[in-house]
Amino acid sequence: MIFNQIERISNLLRAEERKEGGEYGLQAVHMETLYYLSKCNRFSDTPASVTEYLQLTKGTVSQSLRVVESKGLIKKQTDACDRRVIHLKITARGKRVLANSMPPSLFSNALEEMPLETKAQLQTALDTLIKACQKENNSKSFDVCGSCRYCQPVDDKTHFCGLTKQPLSNDDIQLICREHTLIQTNE
Ligand code: SF4
Repeated sequence: MIFNQIERISNLLRAEERKEGGEYGLQAVHMETLYYLSKCNRFSDTPASVTEYLQLTKGTVSQSLRVVESKGLIKKQTDACDRRVIHLKITARGKRVLANSMPPSLFSNALEEMPLETKAQLQTALDTLIKACQKENNSKSFDVCGSCRYCQPVDDKTHFCGLTKQPLSNDDIQLICREHTLIQTNE
């Protein structure tokens, strides 16, 4: 039953993504690529991270990146410390496309109509389900810094990543990270 419900929601959302993206000549996979790059942090904006997050083949992701780059929605940036690493940055045009279409209005409107308490319960239940699915297939959590064991608060504006040894701003910690590691509750 839960599977059917989630499958139905996925189908509805994919259809909306195709519809919204179609206005810009983009397929659902292009929209998902762009959306991921809009919400990931600077340690996670590489082609390999996109592949890992979307759980697609390298070839599919490369092709998708070529399309969004050719439309001026992302640009490549060489890493300042390691020239072999390429970062994928969303352009102003890419942000405008997303602002107009993601999340699809069908989804935002449906959530708006939901009571706050139901929304909070749904969020908690989905979070539990996502974590269980990720555990089952050993995939990364791709979550935000707040629940990462490496996140150390410095003051009310700054945090520190104990893994990358880099400072993090309040904006940074709202973004998802491929290195996110859950806090171990049994320690
Ligand atoms: S604290 Fe964790 S989630 Fe945040 S940047 Fe560091 S490794 Fe990533």
